[in-house]
This record gives sequence, structure tokens and C-alpha cells, in this order.
Amino acid sequence: MVSPADVSLTDLATSDAPTGDKVTAALDVLRRVFGYDSFRGFQREVIDHVVAGGDALVLMPTGGGKSLCYQIPALVRDGVAVVISPLIALMQDQVDALTAVGVRAGFLNSTLDPDTRRLVEAEFVAGEIDLLYLAPEALASRATLNLLDRGRIGLFAIDEAHCVSQWGHDFRPDYLNLSMLHERWPGVPRIALTATATSATRSEIATRLSLTGARHFVASFDRPNIQYRIVPKREPRKQLLALLRDEHPGEAGIVYCLSRASVEKTAEFLVANGVDALPYHAGLDAATRAANQQRFLRADAVVMVATIAFGMGIDKPDVRFVAHLDLPKSVEGYYQETGRAGRDGLPSSAWLAYGLQDVVQQRKMIDTSEGDLAHRRNLAAHLDAMLALCETVRCRRAQLLEYFGEPATGGCGNCDTCLEPPESWDGTVAAQKLLSTVFRLDRERNQRFGAGHCIDILLGRSTDKITQHRHDSLTVFGIGGELSEAEWRGVVRQLLAEGLLAVEGDYGTLALTDGSAEVLGRRRTVMLRREAARPAKAAKPRGAATVVAELPAEAAGTFERLRAWRAATAKEQGVPAYVIFHDATLRQIAADTPSSLAELSRISGVGENKLAKYGEQLLEVLADAA
Ligand code: ADP
Ligand code: ZN
Repeated sequence: MVSPADVSLTDLATSDAPTGDKVTAALDVLRRVFGYDSFRGFQREVIDHVVAGGDALVLMPTGGGKSLCYQIPALVRDGVAVVISPLIALMQDQVDALTAVGVRAGFLNSTLDPDTRRLVEAEFVAGEIDLLYLAPEALASRATLNLLDRGRIGLFAIDEAHCVSQWGHDFRPDYLNLSMLHERWPGVPRIALTATATSATRSEIATRLSLTGARHFVASFDRPNIQYRIVPKREPRKQLLALLRDEHPGEAGIVYCLSRASVEKTAEFLVANGVDALPYHAGLDAATRAANQQRFLRADAVVMVATIAFGMGIDKPDVRFVAHLDLPKSVEGYYQETGRAGRDGLPSSAWLAYGLQDVVQQRKMIDTSEGDLAHRRNLAAHLDAMLALCETVRCRRAQLLEYFGEPATGGCGNCDTCLEPPESWDGTVAAQKLLSTVFRLDRERNQRFGAGHCIDILLGRSTDKITQHRHDSLTVFGIGGELSEAEWRGVVRQLLAEGLLAVEGDYGTLALTDGSAEVLGRRRTVMLRREAARPAKAAKPRGAATVVAELPAEAAGTFERLRAWRAATAKEQGVPAYVIFHDATLRQIAADTPSSLAELSRISGVGENKLAKYGEQLLEVLADAA
């Protein structure tokens, strides 16, 4: 999690710190209501600033603890906090989670029946709730604006603020309208929060939401509990299954695939192999999508196989892994998606399988994409950064953080390149052999072929295609026997990634670039990453141990009993399991085995309301387990 030392605060003054009373009130709310001991990162500074009536733009990674940054001011300030949130499907869960700790909250959206709507509206006007969740489109309606005028608003919180960015992947036109909040209610402080932001996005958010005068709080984007791994793609589904069985049995996770078809196939494959997996993509009807999302949120250990249509706003804290079976289109997207793992701070994996075909396919998609040249260049630049991350021999985390503008501090010790440093080798000669094959086909025969055929030529294979085209008479035929086919594919992939080779057309044929000429003319050496001969049978990676495995044996048994109790309780109440208690809280209860309500209240995540509601039951489960 974000520790104070990781945090860089821009422009943090103390001149308008709130009065002592309110500072104490914020800490009191944190302890009594939410059951946490202390603020995390700069939650404290943000809360003080907003409680005092200041505007704020908060950038924290997923799991950093953004919600408390507006929920606590909502409770401490007079009036109702209006929270703009883009996903109506999740509002119920957000309100349930607050209700569970005894906070009065409600939401208004199109799913409400008229009676409930009238009730929530009346509660808002009477100031009987502290938080009101609204979708951005609601603010376009006159009726909503009139309603808001009738109540007393203490704060506006704009969640997922990057949705205002037109270049981003989650653009929501209705967010553009949100600058009117400031015009219509100039005296009400606003806090905008997001987990996605390069500095370009950040200034776009500030401008579009009229928050240029707001104080910016920028946390480190590091997610130390996530272990990053990028592996060569061989048999992706089998590799995935091994990951689930070896490292995450019985745990919740998300598997991202590029196409709907591969989502379906992968989900079927996992189910056939005994994994509780569900598909999610835009081609499924809305009811199925909603049902699958509900099951993922509510059950303990469902694996969601999805396109990137899935995930925004999913604040399930115990997603233990995010796996990518296809290459993401940008580092921003990759970081956003992998960030959905391990919100609770416990060890989690981000795993990506990546191969030659990914590069070919993505380059082709860019070539054939709609939009002007500038747009395609933009896409290509994003892909290049993603490829550079895949091919790096440096610490993955350092490279990621640098991409987001944070200086890296050496190796992290919790990514694949730190744990098993890859070798690099001088691949100049190999690159020249491959490039001259492409050159000869192109210049001597006026022909272009894909990677597979070029590799066959280098390996001297007499396939039908080779005989038919008399490619066995080329001078490069059979000159590449020193590398295996997999190694040659690695060479092609890395040359493509570095722009020393290009793919073209519908068949993904290889073509030379300006960079190729430099290599062929010996003006450039090519350092390549060594391909592992066979899938590294990973020594159990440090940090990716299962949540239960880290507990001593008897505590593990207790933890399982607590989980079973939680599952039953959640089912009875129709809420997600994590709304009852998070894994981290159950783990600590299992490890500490408190024997009284007083002891129990000292566990992080046990606030007054939950203590009163579940305290006795928990002590019974512990007594049974003992
Ligand atoms: P974000 O919205 O930034 O992704 P959340 O607000 O969902 O993150 O918080 C992530 C997790 O951390 C939640 O489970 C939350 O309850 C927990 N959390 C937040 N602040 C604290 C704190 N000060 N102490 C302990 N746990 C916290
Ligand atoms: Zn590292």
C-alpha cells in the first residue's frame, strides 16, 4: 500500500487546515465507523483539505483508499455529499457497503421503482442521508437539478474522474457536463478522484472539470503487493490453467481476452477443467452480463473471463489475480486492468502471456483502424510502449513507474525480471540472417511472406510451400540451424517490437524498415532477450502465495470457517461477501483469535456497527474452531 514515504504531495500547504475539532472528528470517524487505526498515505491531508472546504484532485492507484477521501468528509461536513459515479450497476453495492458500517446513504438511478425513488429524494431533502450517489447523466435532467436545489449539499465527489478524458479508454460524454457543478453551486467544495492518469490526462481532467485551482494530491502509483509477470505465450490456455491451479486455487480473478470468441472459448475451457469461470463481453445480453457480474462480486472464488468491457468501478477487494491472454493496447490499459488485483493489499498476481502473433495482430489492427494518420500514430506509440515493457530485461515495475513519470528506484524484487533475471544476448547476426531472408524474398523475387515461412527457410525445412516456390535455392536457406523455431519466433517478435522489422497486409507478411537497413549495414547491434528453453517451472514466486497459505495451519482452518460463516451471512443478506468483512480482516481474526468483544474491536476493519452486529457470532465461530 501507499506508505507515507512513497507519497509525493504537490503543493500541500497547511495554512487553511481545519480546526482541531474537525481533525479529531475525521480520525474518530475512521476508527469508530470504519474500524481502521490510522490514515493511509495522504488520506489525512486530502480529508483535512476537503473538510475545510477546499477543492481537490486526487490521484491514487486502485486500492489506495480513495473512497474514504470523500466518505469521511461527507460525514464530517454539514449537508449531503453528492457522489457522481459512472456505473449504475454498482451503486447498490456501494450503498450496501456503507449501510453495513452504519452510514446513511442512498442512490438515484433509472433502476429504482417510483416509491423507492420518492423515499430517497425525501431523505435527501430532509438531510437524513449523508451520501447520495448519482450517475453523471442524471445531472442533465431538470428534475434532478431542482431536487438538488431543495436539499443542502455539503460536497461533490466525482469518482472515476478520468472518464472526462476524451483520449482515454473510458470516455463518458456526460462527464463533460460536470463543470456546471461549479457554476451552479460555487460554494460547494469538489473532490475528483481517479486511478488512471499520466500527467497529460491529469491536466485534461483539471481543465475539463474546472479544477485548475484545486489542490492536486498525487500518490505513488506503485502497487507493491502485485507481482508482475510477462511470459512467452505457448499454449496460453494451458499456461493459464497451470497458473490458477498452482498459485490461485479457489481464488477470485479476472482473465482478459481480446475477442468475444476467445472469451467464450477460454471460459468453456476453464469450466471443463473444473474452474468456476464465467464469460463477460459486450455481445452478451444485458441480463446475462449483470448476472455474471453479480456472481463474480458475490461469490468468493469466481474467475471472470472478459473483454476489457469488464472491470471499471469493480471494487471487489479480493481479486487475487489478473491474467491477460492477449497483449493490451497500451501501458495505461494494462496498468488499469492489472490494478484490479489486490485492492486489499494482500499478495496478488498480474500475469500476461505474450507472443509473436500478438505483435502481428495489433500492428495489423492499427494499420486497418479508422481515423487519420495522427490517430494511428498515437495508437502505434501506445503499442510501442507496451511492447517495450514486454521485452525489457529491466525490472518491470521500474519501467511501469517511469512510464507514469515516477523515478524508479532500482529493482523491486517482486516481478519476473527481478526474481529470475533474463539473459540478454547479442542477436545481431541472427537479426541479419532473418532480415536478409526478408530482403531476398522481397528484392530478388518480389515476394512477401509471414514469419512462419521465413523461419522455415532459415531452418532449411523442405515444406511444400518451400519446394513450390523453390525457396530452397535461396542463399539463406538453412543458415539458421543454431536457433530453435521458438527462438527464431522470439527474434522476429523482438525485431517487430523495436521497429527493426514491420508486418503488413491481411496476411501479416514481413517487410523491411529504415531500421532494418541499419542492422543489415552493420551500423547497429541488436541485443535480444533470451527465450527460456521451456516454460520456467516457476519456483513458487515470492509474494504470490495464496492468501490462506500464508497463515499457520491452525489459523488457516479457522480462516476457512470464518469464510464459510461470511458466505452464509452474505447470502442471507443478499450482499457481496466483502461487504460483511474483507479477507484481510478475517485473516487477522484467524491469526489473533480474539476472545472478547473488546479484543475483537481492535482488529482492523471491525468498526462499531459491525462489532455490534457480528461480534457475538464471530466469537462463536472462533470458539467452535478452538
Ligand atoms: P480505491 O477506491 O482507491 O481503489 P478503496 O477506497 O476501495 O480504494 O480502498 C481499498 C481498500 O483499502 C478497501 O478495502 C478499504 O476498506 C481499505 N482502506 C482504505 N483506507 C484504509 C485505512 N486507512 N486503513 C485500512 N484500510 C483502508
Ligand atoms: Zn522488479
